[in-house]
Amino acid sequence: MKKGNYFSFSICLLILLISSGGLIAQKLPAPFMILPQPQNVTMLNGPGLEPGMLQHLVLKGDFLCPVMGDLLSGLSLEKETGKGTLILLLEKTIPGLNTEEGYTMTIYSDSVEVASTGEAGLFYGCQSLEQLLEDARDFNKPVPSCKITDYPVLSYRAVHFDLKHHLDHMNYYYESIDRLARYKINAVVLEFEDKLRYRRQPLVGAPQSISIDEMAALTRYARERHIEITPLVQGLGHATFILKHEEYAGLRELSWNKWAFCPLNEGTYQVLFDMYRDAIDATPGSKYLHIGGDEIGNIGLCPRCKPMADKEGMLSLSLYWLKRVCEFAKENGRIPIFWDDMPLKQGGVYESTWSDEVTSTAAAKAWEEGIPKLDNLLADFPKNCVYMRWNYSMASQPGNILALDWYKSHGLMAMIATATNTEGGMLFQADERDKGIASTGIVTIRSFIQLAAKKKIPGMLCTAWDDKSPHMENYWRGFIAAAEFSWNPDGRTLEEYDNVWLQREFGISFPDYFSFNNQLRRGSVLWYEALFRHGSQMDEENALQSLPQIEHWLPPVEGREKIQFDYTSKLIELPDLNSPGTWSKKYKDLIDRSLIEKNSYKELSDRLIELYNKSRRNRYYWSLSIALYNLQSTIPDLLLALKESDSPDKIQQYAGLEDVKKAIKNFQEAWKELENVYGQTRFISYTPNYVPDRYFHLASQREDLTWMIQPEQLFLGMIEKWLKTR
Ligand SMILES: [Zn+2]
Repeated sequence: MKKGNYFSFSICLLILLISSGGLIAQKLPAPFMILPQPQNVTMLNGPGLEPGMLQHLVLKGDFLCPVMGDLLSGLSLEKETGKGTLILLLEKTIPGLNTEEGYTMTIYSDSVEVASTGEAGLFYGCQSLEQLLEDARDFNKPVPSCKITDYPVLSYRAVHFDLKHHLDHMNYYYESIDRLARYKINAVVLEFEDKLRYRRQPLVGAPQSISIDEMAALTRYARERHIEITPLVQGLGHATFILKHEEYAGLRELSWNKWAFCPLNEGTYQVLFDMYRDAIDATPGSKYLHIGGDEIGNIGLCPRCKPMADKEGMLSLSLYWLKRVCEFAKENGRIPIFWDDMPLKQGGVYESTWSDEVTSTAAAKAWEEGIPKLDNLLADFPKNCVYMRWNYSMASQPGNILALDWYKSHGLMAMIATATNTEGGMLFQADERDKGIASTGIVTIRSFIQLAAKKKIPGMLCTAWDDKSPHMENYWRGFIAAAEFSWNPDGRTLEEYDNVWLQREFGISFPDYFSFNNQLRRGSVLWYEALFRHGSQMDEENALQSLPQIEHWLPPVEGREKIQFDYTSKLIELPDLNSPGTWSKKYKDLIDRSLIEKNSYKELSDRLIELYNKSRRNRYYWSLSIALYNLQSTIPDLLLALKESDSPDKIQQYAGLEDVKKAIKNFQEAWKELENVYGQTRFISYTPNYVPDRYFHLASQREDLTWMIQPEQLFLGMIEKWLKTR
């Protein structure tokens, strides 16, 4: 830059700053916080906007008034601008904004102007303003005068509602839409499983499923809040919710295996297309249709498929199914979305995309060998399909990056899927931020979204798998993190995210929430492990059911479900009172861990109650946390009582047995309370005519909520017998 140019540039900048009356700042001053973090904030001079100042609304342009939150929806519609007015302005172009989801907002001391080139942008501007007014009210301070220029980095920002093993009350879904809209999420991938009352295949819908009309109403409600509902109907594999019915047995790849359809049976397509049509009717106006397609396994085995699998390979067989369903989607005006693991697995590169044990050299070698296989079949990869690259750990596995690059270099559309709960646990979740590639929790969400942004990938989905069916509230911290980082991937640190999450969701601050959560989590880990001789309740080999071996990753073995097994042999023993002290010695580590939990109970439960009391919103989250914490605290008490009874001193032995009885009673009461809390948002019973869908998912073992406490119930049964022998 020449000197003269530099001079005039400086003058221009000065004029710009003077005319806008302010200085450039990166963030709003505390306590004001917008979630997600806006892209650009310029502070203006002036006293700021007092809460209650806004009274009127003026719409400039041809558009419908956006849906607004509690604070703004009470404004009266006026024609004339003036003091106390919120002006919404729809413009043809706005410099610096190239998406209709972007907006500018200028806050003066007596009025606010929101401008956008699209209705979505006006809606998002109002959501940001609503948050600022909430802070102004909560902290009794005027909203600082400023100009915000804001837009999302990713254009498809979705979260996942998986109805596999549970159904929430309809009002919970409506409230969830409002809550997601607040954080500028613009899509929900709704995985119906058997919770949609399909009309064309009425056998599939569970007795308590949602009608197509009700789902269409929810879709319209969501669209008014700029959220698309993308239906997900699982297809080739993960099909037990369909194939469990004997009426569909003829469509199974193996007559006794309910996991997968036969991809070369025309009947498969008749059933799937019927269900897709119903799913499309249930989500009018949506753009996408998610067809699932992951973890297929156990195909290429029937007399129809085996010759093709042998001759052309498994990849060809699954691409045949993909081609058929993608053609259907196209004919019906939808863009299909597909989980991408099967082609990668069959191309021999899958492990490199997720395993932290595959080195970059090994990944490069796998891809060197895999790329010709994938390239060879490139013509068979549908071009109208979105390949959803899913990875629930840290995103930096070399194979994960190579996969995204392969899609891009071959003209295939990719999006990413991360997960709000990588473990799927029902209690407090892992949040480990400093373990490098092995880190867990919201750091994984941020890492994959940042990678997507760097690679200019337009969309992300934050999955929330229902395999162990945690309460939906357990997912929200991750959902909101996905909202934050998909809008602005580099805007906030994780610690800043913790703070803004607490302020926006609950209207509270709580320094070092991270370590508090990890203390609660420590008790959850003990709960999962306490009663098992090896491993934990989370391990599939510890499932307390005689399960048919239909796991997609295992070779098929017929007749496994008939094996009788004594499941108490998986649980820890009880003290042998003829040999007092032996049990306590054997389980010393368990007893030490129980003691730590007992000693921190008062402090942690007091803090949870304080969080409940101080919250201005969403108190239900803390009711649930309290109920979960009380439940997980009953097992350490029980183990300590057992230890007490494991004594040569008869008096102490007797006192210990009394404490065991007390601990059992406390467990039953805590469980009852948890059922009550769950029942406020979720249906916790099924009708007797429901056809069970049994497989390796923990939550598919029972229809009511008690899959959560199967080991505990079994253990209490052991204690009952043991007490009788005393
Ligand atoms: Zn077949």
